[in-house]
Amino acid sequence: MIYVEKFTFRETGVIKLEELKRLNLLPPQERLLKGPVAILECPEEIPCNICVPFCPSKAIQMESIIALPKIVWDKCTGCGICVAVCPGLAAFVVDISKQDADYVTIPHELLPVPRVGDKVMILSRSGEILGEGVVIRVWERNKTYVITIKVPKGLGLEVRAILSKPLK
Ligand code: SF4
Ligand code: SF4
Repeated sequence: MIYVEKFTFRETGVIKLEELKRLNLLPPQERLLKGPVAILECPEEIPCNICVPFCPSKAIQMESIIALPKIVWDKCTGCGICVAVCPGLAAFVVDISKQDADYVTIPHELLPVPRVGDKVMILSRSGEILGEGVVIRVWERNKTYVITIKVPKGLGLEVRAILSKPLK
């Protein structure tokens, strides 16, 4: 009998942290605590490798065009280029190394584009509202905005989107 490993994201469309870990897509805790690092939430064997040549640190490796991307965690500087170029909006940068808050860098292709200093609602992978965050950096490449948000401590691995309308 062939054993097929069970992943619930194939039914729900929402990947769990435990599943990212099983697929070696989650940085180890020691690396997470060192500073910003990319997480490629790219669990299917699709023909794409755009993040590989764009990574300025050569931190992303793929054995073939349909293999899952692997990050050499200590080479990753958290620059966010992969966030800007990933056509699947599957790349994020997290920084859970700070005492006061966590920082999450996400791709954003909705209007309005938030500005630095805006308070925004922060959302989980499933779209659940997790609270409020503050936009601390915004840049753009080919109409994909790369937004860094300061979020409450403990939410760095959970926040994956924002509501684009700033809170008053
Ligand atoms: S954040 Fe920068 S260094 Fe890290 S994997 Fe992405 S492109 Fe490479
Ligand atoms: S560019 Fe995005 S979708 Fe393509 S392999 Fe990299 S992480 Fe996956």
